[in-house]
This record gives sequence, structure tokens and C-alpha cells, in this order.
Amino acid sequence: VKKVSKRYESQGTPVKHAAVLGAGIMGGGVAYQSASKGTPILMKDIREDALQLGLDEANKLLGGQLKRGRIDAAKMAKTLNSITPTLSYGDFGRVDLVVEAVVENVNVKKSVLAEVEEHLGEDAVLTSNTSTISINELAKAVKRPENFCGMHFFNPVHRMPLVEVIRGEKTSEAAIARTVSYAKAMGKTPIVVNDCPGFLVNRILFPYFAGFSQLLKDGADFRQVDKVMEGFGWPMGPAYLLDVVGLDTAYHADEVMAQGFPDRMGHTGTSAIDKMYELGRFGQKNDKGFYEYK
Ligand code: NAD
Repeated sequence: VKKVSKRYESQGTPVKHAAVLGAGIMGGGVAYQSASKGTPILMKDIREDALQLGLDEANKLLGGQLKRGRIDAAKMAKTLNSITPTLSYGDFGRVDLVVEAVVENVNVKKSVLAEVEEHLGEDAVLTSNTSTISINELAKAVKRPENFCGMHFFNPVHRMPLVEVIRGEKTSEAAIARTVSYAKAMGKTPIVVNDCPGFLVNRILFPYFAGFSQLLKDGADFRQVDKVMEGFGWPMGPAYLLDVVGLDTAYHADEVMAQGFPDRMGHTGTSAIDKMYELGRFGQKNDKGFYEYK
């Protein structure tokens, strides 16, 4: 990881203005992290209430830091002012790098990527925070695939150090270098990986979820499984983790993994993720998943 980061250290042109598309769990987290590390960011969504949720989350995190004495009121105000919520692409012309973080649906992502590209400067780097969808597939939607790559953060963005930077077949070294440099400016540890469904981390995580699902089919109780995995030393078990990730996002990601690796990740429609999704239990985002949150 150190070697990879070093290789791109001198090459990446710094990101002075960033933008994120989607103000959900991930988009809100990216906006907070970028602003708190000094890079102003536009946060675009299609829903006013989603923008407010993203801002509320940043406010909550900063409030916590203020309370613990890690930042002062001036830093809090400055950080909040560095996040500009918007419903339009009006200011996107001055942006150096965009992180797309809308729903995990290939068609929605393709149309959003094609749309935003029209508003960017020739040199701007466009990235996707997709969990699982092939970067080469998404690249088909853009006119400048050399400026496009994956920038995969983990949840919660402010806590998780790793960022996967995914190189598509046509991605230029300059685009990779700028993305690596932005990840580092955000205090993250970037790794550069080649493209495939699920990249690196989710090729491990989704088979783990499949194993969890199989355990439930064999009669295990999800609370007990969570306790066992916590006892094993992991910070949380699979049921709680899925509630944090969002069962809707996990469902769509699971579909992509099943299509990408049909032998290993057969999607039967009967997994625990499928059932929770059908029940509309999306996890913490709507207060009910495996656990209840109200
Ligand atoms: P989310 O459902 O919390 O948020 C998605 C947001 O996108 C919503 O606010 C929605 O209004 C907005 N949106 C939809 N269409 C849009 C458009 N055309 N333009 C602008 N905004 C639009 O989802 P999330 O969990 O934040 O996931 C977003 C992306 O990040 C997905 O690709 C997901 O796979 C990926 N991701 C999620 C996690 C996780 O743990 N949740 C982790 C890593 C990556």
C-alpha cells in the first residue's frame, strides 16, 4: 500500500474544488470528510430533503468533535461553509474531481455520469463510488473515459481508512494520480486496484454475507452470529454491518456480484439480504433492518 501511494505522490495535481453526487450515507460522508480536511465540496442531490440529511450528518459529526474539544467553533463553521448543497450543476465548471455516489444501479449511474460530464471542464476527473459495478462498464457512458476511474470509500467514511482507486482499461495515469492525491488529502489510505465486479474488498465481504445467509438458513439466530463475530474480534457482526451498509444497497451490490461470479456467488433470491429488501427493512437508514432503531 505504501509503495502504491508513493508511486503517485509527485504526479497528482491537487484537487482544489471537489463535488459529490448524492447526499446519502456515502455522499454525505464524502462531503464531510473532504470539507473537514480542507477541500471545499459541492454536494448535489435530486432531493432537497436528502441534502438536508447530508448536512445534518456533517453537523452532528462536527458537533461531536467540538464537544470533545478536537475542533473549535470557528473550525466547525468553516467546515460547514465548505460544503455547498445544491440541486443543480451550475458551479460544476470549476470542479477538479467529482465523486458519484448515487444509488447502486448501473443504468442510473450511467445516466448521471453522462449528465454531469457535460458540465465539467475538459480536465476534470470523474470517479464513481460504486461498491461493485465494473468501472469499464460505467466508462461506456462517458465521452472522456481517460478521465474516469473508481474511488471506492467505505462506510462510515470518516472512520474507514481505506479507499480503493479502481483503474479502468482507458483510465489515464494522471486521473489515477489525482484521485490518489485527493484520497490522501482526505486523510485516507488509497490502494490502486484493477477493475472487476466488487474490486478487492467486496470480493471478500459479499461471500462473507453469503456465508452468513447460509447460517441463517441452517437455523442460526442473527443476534448470536453477531455476538460470535464480535467475540472473534471484529468490531461488529454481519447483521449489524448490513444494517449500517443499507439492505437496499447490499441487495443491488449482491446482484452485481452474482452476475459477475455466477459460480461462486449464485443469486438465489432467497438470501437474508433478499428477504430484508423485500420486507422494506433497509437498516439504519429507515430505522428497521435486522435490528430496530427507534
Ligand atoms: P443512499 O441510498 O444512502 O444515497 C443515495 C443518494 O443518491 C440519495 O440521497 C438519492 O437521493 C441520491 N440520488 C439518486 N439519484 C440521484 C441523481 N440522479 N443525482 C444526484 N443524487 C441522486 O446510498 P449510499 O449508501 O450512500 O450509496 C451510494 C453509493 O455508494 C452506491 O453506489 C453504493 O453502492 C456505494 N457505497 C455504499 C456503501 C455503504 O455502506 N452504504 C459503501 C461503499 C460504497
